[in-house]
Amino acid sequence: MNPFIELGIRHDIVNAISELGFENPTPIQEQSIPVLLTGSNDFVGLAQTGTGKTAAFGLPLLELLDFEVNYPQALVLCPTRELCLQITNDIKNYAKKMGNVNVVAVYGGASIVDQLRQIKRGVQIVVATPGRMLDIINRKAIDFSQVKFVVLDEADEMLNMGFQEDIDSILSTTPDTKKTWLFSATMPSEVRRIAKKYMNEPFELTMGEKNTGNVNIEHEYYIVRARDKYAAFKRIVDFNPDIFGIVFCRTKIETQDIAEALIKDGYNADSLHGDLSQQQRDKVMKRYRDRSLQLLIATDVAARGIDVNDVTHVINYSLPDEVENYTHRSGRTARAGKTGVSISIINAKELGKIRQIERGLGKRFVKVEIPTGFDVCEKQLFSIVHKVHTVVVNEQQIEQYIPRIMEEFKEMSKEEFIKRFASIEFNSFLEYYKNAPDLNAPIEDGRRPERERGDDRAPRQSSGVSGGGKSEYTRLFINLGSVDEFNRGDLLGYICNNTKISGRTVGKIDVKGVYSFFEVQHEDVEKVTNGFKDIEFKGRPVRIEISGEGTSEKREGGYQRREGGGGYNRERSGSGEKREGGFNRERTGGTAGGGFRDFSGKRREDRGERRRRF
Ligand code: AMP
Repeated sequence: MNPFIELGIRHDIVNAISELGFENPTPIQEQSIPVLLTGSNDFVGLAQTGTGKTAAFGLPLLELLDFEVNYPQALVLCPTRELCLQITNDIKNYAKKMGNVNVVAVYGGASIVDQLRQIKRGVQIVVATPGRMLDIINRKAIDFSQVKFVVLDEADEMLNMGFQEDIDSILSTTPDTKKTWLFSATMPSEVRRIAKKYMNEPFELTMGEKNTGNVNIEHEYYIVRARDKYAAFKRIVDFNPDIFGIVFCRTKIETQDIAEALIKDGYNADSLHGDLSQQQRDKVMKRYRDRSLQLLIATDVAARGIDVNDVTHVINYSLPDEVENYTHRSGRTARAGKTGVSISIINAKELGKIRQIERGLGKRFVKVEIPTGFDVCEKQLFSIVHKVHTVVVNEQQIEQYIPRIMEEFKEMSKEEFIKRFASIEFNSFLEYYKNAPDLNAPIEDGRRPERERGDDRAPRQSSGVSGGGKSEYTRLFINLGSVDEFNRGDLLGYICNNTKISGRTVGKIDVKGVYSFFEVQHEDVEKVTNGFKDIEFKGRPVRIEISGEGTSEKREGGYQRREGGGGYNRERSGSGEKREGGFNRERTGGTAGGGFRDFSGKRREDRGERRRRF
């Protein structure tokens, strides 16, 4: 039986959500739907954005309301226009196969006349932002005396935005008998207080630890000198060719400056901040949603309620002041069960702030090195190589040219062809990144920060990662890396599965492009090498070697690349004095929405088109 039917949702709704791809309930849906369907509880759900909470309250509302009559029975309050439209749209989609379900979105920055008209026509569910809702109430244009359910969505955001009084006034127009369902990503004391004020012994549901944030998010930080911040940021972006990210800045000016600089440097970026008109904001958001923008540079306020799936990275170009804001920022990635990375680019003085956020979140952050120019080249190269597999061939169009192309290469061996083909792009990467300086800020006393591990477990006892001490870890090389779609977590799982050693005993994991390093305790080395003896990954033998480098004391630049890793020699890039901006970079021009970065400077438009769709 369909699991939603088992939860008590009727067939016509289940059919509609099946078409949306909802096969199994998310954890919050699984736990809250049965409770909310009783219709007799107040409810507090502590859940991050992206966990499926709209359906968690939307589906029960569709079950509980009477759609034979046309007056407001449910009111959903949410902080932003974007979220308001999203919820309205979602509920309409769930109700697609039901008759006479009327949902109205009420939000500022759009014609009130139209919204009033829709209300007048008859509505059962009103989804609203507080300001406009109050305006309509004050005009006596709506009657909430029959409201049975009020949903306060993203309650913490609404309070952050100063909507407390508006919410009070709105709720005072609804009957005391209504049930209130409150959802919040975090539970600061103000939210506790409103829960207490509006609710009677609510059923409380916490998805995950309090304030822990989404478990699918990896938190990373990079330490750079303040003057290298922008260059480091670009390098991180270059190291992630398929990035679809939101970059947070503290001020409007900063968002504008960064966006302008990025556009000038040929990246596909734009800014979103409070000085834009609603129309301008909508335009930027549409481009981002459509993925014709790769990087959205935003302030906290402007980014509230941004609800875009598949955001791969959140980048904190400037750290937020509050832990709560960090939670909101990072919650823009890893939605709907996906994974994501939240990156902070800091200077050494801000390390204390990272520790503070770690404590607030109850999660460890991983310190990551800014990739070297070589790392970027390698990553970009393999990104292109992978695209050979995924590219959609337009048989009809290409057909006519194939004989001529074949003729051109008839004398060339496959090996020679591949080498040359790959070199077309690779040469430009190498050229661009030659002499790229090391952008990692030196740690003052030569010591590295204590915690560098790729997970959120307890700091290990060993002195292996801090300077000077004798390590109990051996650093191993493995010929798998991010091009094989491994992140640190995946690699840890892969190692543990194949070797049966405990994840807790694995030290620092350093995922590179075509290879990685990881540390294991000395006594486990044999277990690991034996464990991988006959293991293949996608038809290739997995190779484990003891790294010549010892433990993670040494900078990664020191090792020699092995054979099989691409056949080129690593050029040490650390000594260059040149700033990133001073490279012989080939600019791609770049109007907003122009092509993505193009190292070759050639065929920009067609590459832009192709990449824009990812
Ligand atoms: P929400 O937290 O409600 O904003 O949901 C985040 C995303 O997850 C939205 O794109 C939903 O369409 C999607 N979603 C919600 N529930 C499910 C489900 N049970 N199965 C698959 N996707 C879902």
